[in-house]
Order: sequence, then C-alpha cells, then structure tokens
Amino acid sequence: MTIPLFDTASALAPLHDELRAAIARVLDSGRYILGPEVRAFEAELAAYVGAEHAVGVANGTDALTVALRAMGVGPGDEVVVPSFSFYASAEAIEPTGATPVFCDIDPATFCVTPETVRAALSPRTKAVIAVHLFGNVAPVAEIEALGVPVLEDAAQAAGSLGPDGRPGSLGAAATFSFYPSKNLGAFGDGGAITTSDARIAERARMLRFHGSRDKQTFEEFGYNSRLDELQAAILRVQLPHLDAWADGRRAAAACYAASGIGELVTLPSATAGAQPAWHLYVIRSERADELAQALGAAGIGARAYYRRPIHRQPAIAVDLELPGTREAARTNLALPISPTLDAERVGEVAAALRAALA
Ligand SMILES: *Cc1c(COP(=O)(O)O)cnc(C)c1O
Repeated sequence: MTIPLFDTASALAPLHDELRAAIARVLDSGRYILGPEVRAFEAELAAYVGAEHAVGVANGTDALTVALRAMGVGPGDEVVVPSFSFYASAEAIEPTGATPVFCDIDPATFCVTPETVRAALSPRTKAVIAVHLFGNVAPVAEIEALGVPVLEDAAQAAGSLGPDGRPGSLGAAATFSFYPSKNLGAFGDGGAITTSDARIAERARMLRFHGSRDKQTFEEFGYNSRLDELQAAILRVQLPHLDAWADGRRAAAACYAASGIGELVTLPSATAGAQPAWHLYVIRSERADELAQALGAAGIGARAYYRRPIHRQPAIAVDLELPGTREAARTNLALPISPTLDAERVGEVAAALRAALA
C-alpha cells in the first residue's frame, strides 16, 4: 500500500527513544501488574478527559462489561446499544446477564440520537451505551435527559472534543480501548474505564481484581482484567501527544473536505458542536464496493466497516428493521486517515476517487 488505511507508526517514530526508556524503567522496576505506572497513567488519563477517576483494565471489551456491572446492570435488565458499531459494543453486555436492545443511528453522523434511543427504551432499560463511532461525539447530555444513565463507548474517540467536554467525561461512565490501531494505542491490549462517580470507580476496581478489594475477601464473581505496567508506561509516553495527533487527524479531514470529493460522495458530518478526532474517515457512496476495489488497485487502503450490523450477526440475530443502520452498513467506506496524513497524500486519494467515479 502506498497510502495505508491506518498509519500509527509515523506518529510514534519520534518517540522511540522515550518509549525504549519507559520499557527499560518497567524492566528495572521488576513490577509488572498494578504498580506505579498504572496508578500514574490512571491519574493522567482521568485529568486528560476531565473525570475524577480512571481504572485500567485488560481491553476495551472488558472495560464495557466491568463498567456496566459497576453501574449496577445485571440479569433482567435491558441495555440499549447501537447495532452499527464494532461487535464488542453489544457482546460485552452478555456477561452481565442483561439483554441488549438494539437502536438505530443517524447515518450522517454514524451516532445514536435521542430519537433513536427513545424508540428502544422500556421500563427495564438500565443503561444506554452511546458509541462515539469513528471518533464522532454522540449527544450524551440529550440522551441522559431522557432519564437513563449513559455509558460512553469511547474506544474510537480518544482526543475528540464534544460541546460539553471530552468523551470520557460526558456520561455516568466511559470506556476506552488501547488496541494498537486506536487513537491512543498500546503495544498490545489495554483498556480503561473513566467516571466521576466514586462508587462506580471503586466497584470497577474490585471487579477487575476477581471481585475483591483486599485480595483476601471475594465479595462477588469478578474478572482477572488488568492493564499491565508495561502498557501503562508506554501509554504515558503517548498521552501528552494525543491532542497534537488529534489535530493532525482533523487537518487531514479538512483536506478531504477541501478536495471537493464531497460533490461525489457523502462526507461524514460532525455532531452538533463536536470536533471529532476522526479515528476513521468514513464516507458514504452507492458505489462503495467498486470504489474500495479501485482505490486498492491504486495502492490506497480503503475498506467498509460493519457491513453486517450487530443485530444481523449469527451469534445475536434479532429480527429488527433499523433504516439508518441499514443505510450506513450498505454504503460506508473508510478512507486513509492518520495524525501524519498530509495534503499531498489526501490529494492522491481524492484523485483516485475521482478517476474511479469518472
Ligand atoms: C475497539 C473497540 C472495542 C473493543 O476494544 P478492545 O480493546 O479491542 O477489546 C469496543 N468498542 C468499539 C467501538 C471499538 O472500536
């Protein structure tokens, strides 16, 4: 690929010495699990997003399960979740014993709206998972105004900014993934829960360590789900650069908009007042599959996401019509985006797209 879909390596290149030093620091310390690096990263992440607490866990999927349980979700409850998301957004509900109820999205923003959530509410709804999909910022305050607590799935939205603050500080709790290709990526798996509710934070800390606060008494069934010292040290090097990387992603998105391809395909719309740190730059076109092939042949990474939405997956299979989801699933196509994608390369993508549609 001359222009890959993802490029996190270029942004990390100037940090290699600092990253090696952080890894050496952990090696020298002999402390690998729940030590000073995790504690420091939790404090730094909480301060960055504007929440009181952060709790490091093993990955973004566990973060969702642990956060839901910490919010009191359990058997007999319903959790509203968009069907147009990565599968884990709904998969993580199953271990809580609650039932996922799928809601639609607005295909212009790829996010849930108060209207699509309202249509899925029932007296059994215990929480709504608002996914900040592709880095866009879902309208959390408007959804909480419906009277239900929101868990933000911010796996794709590290570095984004909403009208009321950063993802991670907008709902009752939020979850992050540090999978390597995410906006803030570890060198392996990692995740975190952020919240300003001390009870949720404390319960999440207990659940990530087998349901124990003191390692002696096991109050309920929990998980072995921890962020490790090595990943925390690596993330601490990167966190101070997240805003600059997000600016780079926004600059690349602005180049796409300025290239004029918006006359040929539908560009993604930021939600009201949001400055998304586009994790993925996803356009829509009736000719998406044909475009993906033509761009691939030109050495440009492009791929469709979630062509089969979650409620149509064999593991879940619910008979439900969600028109916005169907539209987004059918027509979406992610174009290359990264913190370092410059105007020249955006121009090459735009030219290849024009040629394919000519
Ligand atoms: C990546 C992702 C997850 C899961 O995170 P993992 O760290 O891979 O478990 C959950 N939700 C969304 C929207 C994601 O993009």
